[in-house]
Amino acid sequence: MEKVDCIVIGAGVVGLAIARALALRGWETIVLEQESGIGTGTSSRNSEVIHAGIYYPTESRKAEWCVRGKHLLYEYCADRGVPHRQCGKLIVATAPEQVPVLDQLRAAGKANGVAGLDIIDARAAAALEPSLHCVAALESRSTGIVDSHALMLSLQADCEAAGGMLAFRSPVLGGRCEAGGITLHVGGEHPMDLQAGVVVNAAGLHAQQIASRLEGLAAATIPLLHLAKGNYYSLSGRSPFARLVYPVPEPGGLGVHLTIDLGGQARFGPDVEWVHHLDYQVDPRRADSFYASIRRYWPGLPDGALHPGYAGIRPKLSGPGEPAADFVLQGPSVHGVHGLVNLYGIESPGLTASLAIAEAVLAQL
Ligand SMILES: Cc1cc2nc3c(=O)[nH]c(=O)nc-3n(C[C@H](O)[C@H](O)[C@H](O)COP(=O)(O)OP(=O)(O)OC[C@H]3O[C@@H](n4cnc5c(N)ncnc54)[C@H](O)[C@@H]3O)c2cc1C
Repeated sequence: MEKVDCIVIGAGVVGLAIARALALRGWETIVLEQESGIGTGTSSRNSEVIHAGIYYPTESRKAEWCVRGKHLLYEYCADRGVPHRQCGKLIVATAPEQVPVLDQLRAAGKANGVAGLDIIDARAAAALEPSLHCVAALESRSTGIVDSHALMLSLQADCEAAGGMLAFRSPVLGGRCEAGGITLHVGGEHPMDLQAGVVVNAAGLHAQQIASRLEGLAAATIPLLHLAKGNYYSLSGRSPFARLVYPVPEPGGLGVHLTIDLGGQARFGPDVEWVHHLDYQVDPRRADSFYASIRRYWPGLPDGALHPGYAGIRPKLSGPGEPAADFVLQGPSVHGVHGLVNLYGIESPGLTASLAIAEAVLAQL
């Protein structure tokens, strides 16, 4: 049986960031990915926003890793020439009763260590974004956007330059946790068993399924998975906004917001649709609710301007109506299996936090 120091399951942005960090430490590292390329899961089905760290409870992992991850990500992108822009964002109150929410978000952001947060009035907001309708806004200057695929390519390149390897079409089917190491059963064209001293399960939406197939890992440690689909609509023509525009958050998500890509195209979403299966089709009948939500902050949205775009699915650890759950990183101190780290519930802001999550995984090991 083949033996390596470390295996990372999943070549999404989080798995790649972890594999890079392991390889840079000098450990022989293999990434097992079931698909034929990097980042075909949630990592290419998101808003590509570098979040400031406003929304998450203070001292939560989401808050800590988002703020740390944002700094690391800006530095990394600048250093490696990964396309990104610190364009800023406005969270808008469209009715007077929403203004206190802006104050709460600002206070939460400050408590999380986020700088560059100011409440501005309707006139100041209109001076920044003439098409915007609001009664007040919270301006977040450290928010930005990143080309997530370019980021993943750069992480992959770093990992490979440090001696790491990526094995595509290599689904992990299950495994065994023993005193001498963790053995994984790998399917694909050339099925085999691989043993490693360190295994990091960064399989996103499939992390629970993989964990449940590891003999020797207590099932009671595996949290329940809930799926919250987020649909996006794209806008024909160029964005009339220079920065991101978010409404106040809604249960389960951040509200149907406007993000722009680095080419200046706008898209709206994601909404929150609780689902039971991984189905990425966008139902065109959702358009009406998108028009209604967007026109609260952009009354000038023309009829017929929105087109079904794409969808992503959040791997949530809390269900409808339940309080938002934190990221879960389970190492040996929780489940008792030496060398195993499981990552669960890595929804937003996982892209922003990816480099900080990699640091935290290394600290566990
Ligand atoms: C709608 C939406 C919007 C979001 N917007 C943002 C945002 O703007 N900013 C932000 O910071 N975050 C955002 N996020 C969160 C962010 O996209 C995720 O946290 C991040 O992409 C998770 O990366 P990952 O590597 O953990 O998972 P994934 O990208 O899902 O990667 C997991 C990988 O594991 C592989 N895999 C699964 N099972 C197996 C197996 N058995 N064997 C081998 N490989 C396997 C999959 O094929 C996949 O490639 C958003 C998420 C969603 C859903």
